[in-house]
Amino acid sequence: MGFLSGKRIVITGIASNHSIAYGIAKVMYREGASLAFSYQNNRLKERIEKLSTEFESNIVLPCDVSDDKSIETFFVKLSATWENFNGFIHAIAYSPPSQLQGDFIDVVNRQDYAMTHDISAYSFVAMAKISRNMLMENASLVTLTYLGSERAIPYYNVMGTAKAALEANTRYLAYSMGRKGIRVNAISAGPIRTVAASGIKNFKKMLSYYKESTPLRRSISLEEIGNVAAFLCSDLSSGITGEIIHVDGGFNITAINIEGE
Ligand code: NAD
Repeated sequence: MGFLSGKRIVITGIASNHSIAYGIAKVMYREGASLAFSYQNNRLKERIEKLSTEFESNIVLPCDVSDDKSIETFFVKLSATWENFNGFIHAIAYSPPSQLQGDFIDVVNRQDYAMTHDISAYSFVAMAKISRNMLMENASLVTLTYLGSERAIPYYNVMGTAKAALEANTRYLAYSMGRKGIRVNAISAGPIRTVAASGIKNFKKMLSYYKESTPLRRSISLEEIGNVAAFLCSDLSSGITGEIIHVDGGFNITAINIEGE
């Protein structure tokens, strides 16, 4: 019996089988969780319906997190099958492509800043707020963040500021929801080649620098992120909330890589 058996978890943010959320779903299924899936729009519907069969799930519903009505409808429809549930994975981020290409001061503007923060940071709070009456007492919420929140990383730009807000949201939600026994944590993942990541200029360069410089001298896998997400949604982590856990092979503890000739 897996350590998530009996848990019902909502998985957001699958765009393909390279998505971090897909890796998380795989591990959660392995550990016995029942899963429900959301997809952003009709373009992804068929693909997510097909992927969900791998996890023996027939709960696949649309949810565009830029719209409170869409989030509300998602949870109302979910409640027809699940009256309550044990948590969700928020694996969603978006910034207009131009924001992830140039120099921060040149490309940043009010409109794109607001959109990036709305979809990549506020949506975590919106999902928690709208679903709170369906969340069980020991529920666990997990979001995905990146080191660009703590350090200035070329081309990550406004997404870095949104991830900083997302991490602060994690702490405020943890404090606010803790009195009901609900835990809220974030995983700061090392770089993984996904649709979202490929929008960041020089992402391949980032990945190879990371592989050479990280203490483990390799990239991390979807399964390694999935294992930590599953742990955070399980009772094994019952004393942990408000944390940002780095699953990055230790990259965040390093400074400069001066090895070599
Ligand atoms: P991905 O492209 O596979 O997933 C991003 C998801 O966000 C997609 O499924 C997309 O449909 C969804 N999304 C975007 N706008 C949405 C909206 N308005 N409503 C609903 N869904 C929306 O990429 P990924 O890398 O798996 O990203 C998942 C999370 O992991 C993101 O928060 C990302 O910032 C974070 N992350 C990624 C990396 C990396 O290197 N790939 C590293 C650290 C953190």
